[in-house]
Amino acid sequence: MVEPGEELDRNLDQAADLLLGARYVVALTGAGVSVESSVRPFRGPGGIWTEHGEPPMDGYQRFLADPRREWQRMINREGYLKDMFEAFETAKPNAGHYALAELEEIGVLKSLITQNVDNLHRAAGSRNVAEIHGNCLLVRCLECNARFPKDDIPVDELPPRCPGCNGIMKNDGVYFGEPIAADVLHKCQEDVSTCDCMLLAGTSGFVYPAAGFPLTVRRTGGSLVEVDPYGTGLTHMCDVALKGKSGEVLPRLLERIKTRMSG
Ligand SMILES: [Zn+2]
Repeated sequence: MVEPGEELDRNLDQAADLLLGARYVVALTGAGVSVESSVRPFRGPGGIWTEHGEPPMDGYQRFLADPRREWQRMINREGYLKDMFEAFETAKPNAGHYALAELEEIGVLKSLITQNVDNLHRAAGSRNVAEIHGNCLLVRCLECNARFPKDDIPVDELPPRCPGCNGIMKNDGVYFGEPIAADVLHKCQEDVSTCDCMLLAGTSGFVYPAAGFPLTVRRTGGSLVEVDPYGTGLTHMCDVALKGKSGEVLPRLLERIKTRMSG
């Protein structure tokens, strides 16, 4: 019988070996990482949509039909938008976000793909970030994909227009019915095709297209390292599953890697 602590210790060694032995490590993160920063979830107990109701499934089509009205809803923070913006504006990165940023800083992690829309990876210092569902603190031009902090865009005339190309601007967060921004999707596909080791943290592995990324890495011979307290639908195909919260396990993984690098 192996003590749980001993097993995690051994798994951390194996995970450090995989990350240090890979040429192009990509992290894929999901809601679990944000929940540890006390970001209110959308769904489930205490979820923002659980309280206010789910947004319409054709939200993007409604936006295109009347962008001015949708912008007014956003500015007035109608319905769930008030709770959502308050959750994102008060959230702080946790130790897991900072560990991922430092893994990039020391050259081990090459890029990060996240399903989260709360800006916390950027706030922690991660630079090469693909936000597959957008970033709710940014606005994006629907024509040229240029992005700006939402508070930098004047809203005296609605909808606001892109300073570069005069296209209609929309919150960067991907609405139901909205295609993932082409530039982000392209970047994810490039990262995944180059990736030979993917570090999964706080992602259930059920929401596509992100759920397909680990499968592609696996199929092309890459390794998978998972960090999750409970295990997920992807655990069975991972080379190493580190059981624990990302805010606790990722800093330990970082320390182990730094010790190896200095040794
Ligand atoms: Zn534009």
